[in-house]
Amino acid sequence: MLPLLKNRVDPPIESYMTPVMTRGPSVIVFSNDMTCNLHCWSCRSGPIIEKRQDEIFRQTKNVLDTFYDSIKFISPIGSGDPLASPAWLKILQTFDIKKYDNLDIELFTNGLLIPKYWDSLSHIHDNIVRIKMSVDAASKDVYEKTRLGGKFEEMDRAMKFISKLGKDFILNMVVESDNFTDIPLFIERAIDHNATRVNLTMLRNWPDIRGGDETFHKKDLANSNHPKYREFLKLLEDNESLLSHPIVDSSRVVPAGHRVIQRS
Ligand code: SF4
Repeated sequence: MLPLLKNRVDPPIESYMTPVMTRGPSVIVFSNDMTCNLHCWSCRSGPIIEKRQDEIFRQTKNVLDTFYDSIKFISPIGSGDPLASPAWLKILQTFDIKKYDNLDIELFTNGLLIPKYWDSLSHIHDNIVRIKMSVDAASKDVYEKTRLGGKFEEMDRAMKFISKLGKDFILNMVVESDNFTDIPLFIERAIDHNATRVNLTMLRNWPDIRGGDETFHKKDLANSNHPKYREFLKLLEDNESLLSHPIVDSSRVVPAGHRVIQRS
């Protein structure tokens, strides 16, 4: 049993913190550029192309050059798209992979630019172990309403392309009131495209969401007062076997802190 907080005795700070790092990090998840070729409303209030590309390039290169002997895994970039960012594209295209000892790279991307740039990354093909693609939809109308700036046909082409690369292929869907009806098709498409995992998560109230709190509350299916809440639960109930497929992680689709698939 965990001790009550008031009874807990913390170890001396020196035992887990030293004033100077004695070894470098082995895992680095980068989020240092918001540049993206899309401008999804759930993520930002408008298109973002960061101007400080030289600074991002220098900063990233400095981190990689400093810790090359300890880094085992990197993931660019949770904040934008690594192939839409000129700085990150240059980092990846000029990566001196021979300096590293078995470096694993995860690309966190909307996927659209992978077919265009894949050949230019041939020197790191073996190191790219995983492609994590955020898609959020499975039909043209929902995709183009959700992933602003994206064309369904391009996404479809990119999914087919990535599915043949033989990499760990993860598909992400942020569930909200405009796209939840696509969940079954999303999982079926993921299975058809050799995805190794499907992550379903609920919409979160990011500070940059377009339309702020008002949009969030309009789209948030975790709210049991949402007009589509019951329809959402019914869809989940009706698709329980798809949601339990071994590649699907639906554990975070939990509105209001309760199990979604509940009998009423
Ligand atoms: S693709 Fe990802 S990073 Fe780009 S705008 Fe959409 S959610 Fe944000």
